[in-house]
Amino acid sequence: MEDNDELKSGHALNMNTRIAEVSSSILSIPKMYDVIVTGAGPAGAFLAGQLARAGLLVLLVEKCKFPRHKICGCCLGAGALFMLATAGADKFLAEFKRRSLDFLVCHVGQKQLTVPIPSARSLSRENFDSSLVLWGCESGVIFLPETNARVASIETNRVVVELIHNGSTPLVVSAKVFVAADGIGGTSLSGLSRFNFETAVHSRIGMGCIINAPNSKHKANSIQMYYHPYGYLGSVLLEDDRLNLAASVDVQFIRRQGTAAAMQEIADYCSADLPDLASAHWRGTAALTRRRKVVWGDRIFVTGDSAGYVEPFTGEGMTSALASAQLVAPLVIQAAVHDWQPALGKEWQRIYNRFVRNNQMTCRVTTAILHRPALTLAAANVLSLCPDLGRTVAGFINRSYCARSR
Ligand SMILES: Cc1cc2nc3c(=O)[nH]c(=O)nc-3n(C[C@H](O)[C@H](O)[C@H](O)COP(=O)(O)OP(=O)(O)OC[C@H]3O[C@@H](n4cnc5c(N)ncnc54)[C@H](O)[C@@H]3O)c2cc1C
Repeated sequence: MEDNDELKSGHALNMNTRIAEVSSSILSIPKMYDVIVTGAGPAGAFLAGQLARAGLLVLLVEKCKFPRHKICGCCLGAGALFMLATAGADKFLAEFKRRSLDFLVCHVGQKQLTVPIPSARSLSRENFDSSLVLWGCESGVIFLPETNARVASIETNRVVVELIHNGSTPLVVSAKVFVAADGIGGTSLSGLSRFNFETAVHSRIGMGCIINAPNSKHKANSIQMYYHPYGYLGSVLLEDDRLNLAASVDVQFIRRQGTAAAMQEIADYCSADLPDLASAHWRGTAALTRRRKVVWGDRIFVTGDSAGYVEPFTGEGMTSALASAQLVAPLVIQAAVHDWQPALGKEWQRIYNRFVRNNQMTCRVTTAILHRPALTLAAANVLSLCPDLGRTVAGFINRSYCARSR
């Protein structure tokens, strides 16, 4: 066994055991809660932990078996790290080998430019999301993995939720408040037309995979980004030396070429020094640019990517998810401790529009640039000539999230 494999399986084994220890069985959970949170990504797990710390009885439902990988660039921005540290939620992150990311290396065709970025960190989603769940459970969250949640009905004093574990007969539970933090493919609100997604016509989709690459020449402290007219592909080294790859690509390009060939074409276009991508196990996401018209309903709040998402860049997705969890927490607490009032939902819509969607506008501008390799190169040129400007732009995005989430 390679050293890397040993490290990987050692960590995975440890996290598997710890998650199993904090997981509850659907047969033994209470039937009534203050709050049910759906989705144990950064938004759901961070929110659930904060609510439990405020003394609420919280159920965190997750459809996947944990620890689980999720398609993601795995770059935690400075803003995310700051928020977690301030809340004390970074406790378990210290256990993983620290991989600092100091540079973004942009490859456009044969051109290559290096831009300094404010200190970020790479961490696999198996370990990051599981660490947040462990933190939440330490605070009293009841964690129910491998269970699909769906709002069945909204009554005057509670939300009724169906829980389906491994295809079994639904268990009906209820809560004073329900929070959907179930990501871009979230289905917990699918029975309620008010929350239907609006998807951008030419939205790209996300693709991702993790490769064991013991002899990779990937620079440990860098994010490598490879731009192609039909998409871009980013790579970072994870804490266990595996290579994480994530891409945003045109759907038609994938249909024409097939996933693996399309990814290989992006790499070849930039003469990327990457392992064979054609044989990697790629997975895809739903359309990335989507949002809901409203982010609240009676006794319901929507947060994180489930509320809306623009497109991945490096570090704002998880920062935004954590920030929106932090912003919605006081309103959820008020709705659970006192009674539900529509004013709380309206207030969440106002805060969400003002703080989160404004930041997504920054992503939209960035995305418009990233979809045009020539513009990307010009922007990278400017940033590499003025490194302080690069740090300032990235720092602005991250700081604006943390400042607003406090
Ligand atoms: C290609 C790509 C690259 C990216 N790169 C980065 C990056 O480098 N840095 C960064 O910060 N962000 C990045 N992002 C964005 C980041 O992954 C998301 O913004 C972040 O995961 C959002 O967190 P969340 O908690 O809102 O949702 P998620 O992390 O998606 O979590 C939602 C959870 O809900 C669960 N779920 C769904 N439906 C149900 C249901 N009905 N019942 C129970 N559970 C359910 C899902 O299984 C999932 O675990 C990237 C995204 C993509 C697609």
